[in-house]
Amino acid sequence: MPTIKQYVNLPAAATGVNGPVRQLRVTPNQVPNVAPGDRVDWWIEPDPGNESLAFQSLTERTRLAHGAAPGVTVGLGHHFDNTLTFTHIGGDKYTIKASRDGQRAQFLATDEFQTWRKLYYTVWYSGAQTLSTYNNIDPRFVGEFARHFIELERRAVLPALATVDSARVDFQSLSQQAASSPTFDWPFMNGGPNALLNLRVGGAPPGGGTLTDKPLHMAFLLVPNCYYTQLQRHAFPTANNAVGSVTTFRTVWRDPMNGNNFMWTAQASWPAAGATDVRAYFTFTPGSPNRVNWNLTTLPGLTAHLATPGNTYNLTFSFIWKSSINGYSWGNFCVVGCTGPGRSETAVLGTFVHEMGHGIGQTVRQEPQYSAAGVALATQLANPRWYTDQFGGQGPHCNTNAGLTPDPSTTSGQRYDWWPALGAGRLCTIYHAGHSNRDDGVFCPVCAPRIRRVRLDTPAQTSRSWNHFG
Ligand SMILES: [Zn+2]
Ligand SMILES: [Zn+2]
Repeated sequence: MPTIKQYVNLPAAATGVNGPVRQLRVTPNQVPNVAPGDRVDWWIEPDPGNESLAFQSLTERTRLAHGAAPGVTVGLGHHFDNTLTFTHIGGDKYTIKASRDGQRAQFLATDEFQTWRKLYYTVWYSGAQTLSTYNNIDPRFVGEFARHFIELERRAVLPALATVDSARVDFQSLSQQAASSPTFDWPFMNGGPNALLNLRVGGAPPGGGTLTDKPLHMAFLLVPNCYYTQLQRHAFPTANNAVGSVTTFRTVWRDPMNGNNFMWTAQASWPAAGATDVRAYFTFTPGSPNRVNWNLTTLPGLTAHLATPGNTYNLTFSFIWKSSINGYSWGNFCVVGCTGPGRSETAVLGTFVHEMGHGIGQTVRQEPQYSAAGVALATQLANPRWYTDQFGGQGPHCNTNAGLTPDPSTTSGQRYDWWPALGAGRLCTIYHAGHSNRDDGVFCPVCAPRIRRVRLDTPAQTSRSWNHFG
């Protein structure tokens, strides 16, 4: 009897392999010792390897609409119906059995069902090298998610609008950042000049574009190298020294889109002097950390103003830094850098799986737990390996086989790194950075069961903004 793959996260169809509901029907000639007018009993036989019910509320468990019940006569025929509703969890197996009521020893076994989830994806590439890399890693990408009962169905592979060596994948333009806008404008994917994609974010029609089956459809952009830029702002409203500096572990950048200037804004003012553009008084000193310096001693009037004890001036400025990235994800969009210095195809695979992992919200901090009766317990199950960007990177990550080491560039002053004392095991593909000891493209044993349990249905994917792009 072949196992039927049931795609429990897809929109429910009336019956069939899409959706969490199956209509079941048996006739008297199929069930031993049953005649029209008898009652037929129904039950579920779960596989011993199925996920624990402790992760499923009563209404999330695989269940039949009813147990023993009489059938119905229609015309010359007679049949017994039931409705089977599946859990959202992937990789569970169930066989449904039916017998004459009270005679379970003689039963009819229906097909064996296995729960799967399906997601769609479309790939855009920039240049032949990225296409080649993608073609070489795609089977392993799809294979890793299949290992966790998520079937990835590719819809298209398309060239990007431009072929570039290095892609600026700013999620906010500098002017939006300067305006403190809470919205992202994604200038590289608005279809305009220099754009790599046209997913029509913020365009017309809103939410238009090319992706079908949203919110179950992920868009990938593959570029050779990628980076983004950001403004770092400072304000010293009562400065009393014409000379000073700030530090950053980011790469201060002379931005071609800003006339090769690393300063975006800089203004000085005091009661006798209106706001003056002082960008030309700034320099930066590369190092670890980098230092952004100002020296306003030659700014007309300032030195004389500060000569009076108690006098201060107002100094505000913002400068540009750039950050190279292996990839990132937001909603139903991921970007992956493919050929950066020293990057192997397996490392690119690691990023591909990593960003998709973020995209499905796989790295969970905690999960609800339920009593045998399906009632939510007060305490959720914490993921012992979860951490977020105070230890490096951005977004939630997994620290399997990693330990904390000092790192002044992170918010916490520490960073997770491979830790041989924890054993010979490798880092998870959801570790926050590329690493020679990362098991690229493979989720660790802590993450693996959580992938099977994570919800991938339409409301869950909408909550992850998988309806945002395209
Ligand atoms: Zn990440
Ligand atoms: Zn992990």
